[in-house]
Formats: sequence, structure tokens, C-alpha cells
Amino acid sequence: MHIVVCIKQVPDSAQIRVHPVTNTIMRQGVPTIINPYDLFALEAALALRDQLGGSVTVLCMGPPMAEDSLRRALTYGADRAVLLTDRYFAGSDTLATSFALSAAIARIGETFGTVDIVFTGKQTIDGDTAQVGPGIAKRLDLNQLTYVSRIAGIDAEAREVTVERRAEGGVQVLKTALPVLITMLEGTNEIRRGSLGDALRAARADVTVWNAADAGIDDLLKCGLRGSPTVVKKVFAPSARAEKAEMVANDGQSSAQDADALIAAILNRNPALDADLRRLSAGF
Ligand SMILES: Cc1cc2nc3c(=O)[nH]c(=O)nc-3n(C[C@H](O)[C@H](O)[C@H](O)COP(=O)(O)OP(=O)(O)OC[C@H]3O[C@@H](n4cnc5c(N)ncnc54)[C@H](O)[C@@H]3O)c2cc1C
Repeated sequence: MHIVVCIKQVPDSAQIRVHPVTNTIMRQGVPTIINPYDLFALEAALALRDQLGGSVTVLCMGPPMAEDSLRRALTYGADRAVLLTDRYFAGSDTLATSFALSAAIARIGETFGTVDIVFTGKQTIDGDTAQVGPGIAKRLDLNQLTYVSRIAGIDAEAREVTVERRAEGGVQVLKTALPVLITMLEGTNEIRRGSLGDALRAARADVTVWNAADAGIDDLLKCGLRGSPTVVKKVFAPSARAEKAEMVANDGQSSAQDADALIAAILNRNPALDADLRRLSAGF
């Protein structure tokens, strides 16, 4: 089983600040981490490899410094790492990102062996769109299983995978044929502590570095800014709300009269809500 896990290097959002005047995100000096959602995908992939044999390749598109995140993934036990980096990828939106990553995944298949499963996280903590996984599946014509909470089983002979998928109001159990792309939900497992052997191997490992040509991309118009129709017009920090929450009773003694008085006060402050409720109740 050859599994590819896409990981993105993102700024550590716990340490991001917003510029007080320009309201833009201040990224300078902010440490980077592996997108936390991608660690759930990586652990799911490593567990499958441990169970069925094969290898896990981690793939990241990013600037040269993204090699740190790939090396970190190797310390958890990934078998090989590929960094896709080229100035032509700068400014990629989800369309251009999924284009470049799918070309690299096809090239990984040719170079290191047929790919059976591609994992991505559900979404990133910076771009937050959750579009890249489905975009890769579409481009590579893979069956796609999104919002997966558990890999319930794999039948390697029949080449089928069964998963549990979180859906509104319940859990779906889905089965489909390999090759497949899976976007993994958060909180579904816990990334292992890598062994000392993995840490030593990661420190010495050669990370494969590919540019656009190495990944077999010849249409550079589909890459980076030129291949990105999406434009983020504005990024801003929401301003704090003026209203404050009020504690009306915390002694366990509040009465029905207190509740009536509270509802009257709320409706008094929101005449439109009062009118809506009256209209609704008139309909019953
Ligand atoms: C501040 C800011 C400004 C931006 N401005 C623009 C803009 O002006 N124009 C524009 O077009 N786009 C802009 N973007 C979007 C940015 O380019 C996206 O982050 C990028 O396209 C990937 O989308 P995403 O992060 O939403 O990924 P998602 O779709 O949320 O990611 C899902 C999964 O795909 C995988 N994945 C995603 N990206 C990579 C990667 N690089 N390498 C490996 N795996 C990956 C990971 O497994 C991830 O969990 C901006 C983003 C930010 C944070």
C-alpha cells in the first residue's frame, strides 16, 4: 500500500498578531507548524501502513523552509518526503494548489510506486477553505471520501476501503474502491511519538525537492498567481462587540417570575424579535 499524505506548513495561529493600523496579519517572526489537521491524516496513514505494509510519502508545496515540516513528518515515521517548491507556485489559490499537488502526486506514483490512497487534512488553519483535497481528487479522477472520522477497514484483495464519515445528525458508513482520496477530520486519533530511530533517520534523510518541471508541469499559466482566479479582497480582525454578557442569577434560586422578567427585558431591547415572535405565535 503506497499512501501519500499532503501536509501544509502554516503559521502557528496561536502566535499570530494583527497589525493595529493596517489590520493585516503580521507573519514576520511567527513560527511555522504542520497544519494541525494534517497530523490526523498522517497518523491515519501511518496506522494503515503499520497494518498492511507499504510506505507513506509526505508531500508539501511551499517555500524552501517548508522542508522543516516535512522533516518533522519523517520523525513521526513517514518513509519519504517530497517538497514541491518553485517561484512559479507563489500566490496559488486552491485551484492552482490542487493543480500543482495533483501533478506531483502523479509524478510520485511514477517515481516511487502506484499511489493507492491520498490523505489530506479536512482544512488548513490559515486558508481554511477545505477545497484542496476535493480539488486533487477531481483532477486525478480519484474516488473521494471527505470528513472521515474513522477508517473502518480495508480489503486489500478486493481493493476496497470502508470509512465512517461525520454527517449532519449522524455517521455515514461508506465503502468505495481504491485509489481514493480521504480528507480526515480533526480529533479522530492522536499523532504518535516518533521513535529515536525515526528522529535520527529524519535528521539525515534526503528530502526530495521538485520544481514545476520535475513534477511534470509544463503549463505554468495554471500555477501560482497566474493560475489563481480567487482574490482575497480584505482580511480583517472582527471588532469586539460592545455588549457584554450578564449573569442574571447564579444562586440556583431563580423563579418563574425572574424568567418572565428576563424575557420581557430581552424583548424590550429587541422590538423586532418581539414582533416576529408575536407573528409566529399568531400562526399557531
Ligand atoms: C492571509 C491569506 C491571504 C491569502 N490571499 C490569497 C489571495 O490573495 N489570492 C488567492 O488566490 N489565495 C489567497 N490565499 C489562499 C491560499 O493561497 C490558500 O491557503 C491555498 O490556496 C490553499 O488553500 P487552503 O489553505 O484553504 O487549503 P484547504 O483546502 O483548507 O486544505 C485542505 C488540505 O489540503 C492540503 N493542502 C493544502 N495546501 C497544501 C500545500 N500547500 N501543500 C500540501 N498540502 C496542502 C492539506 O492536507 C490541507 O489540510 C490566502 C491565504 C491567506 C492565509
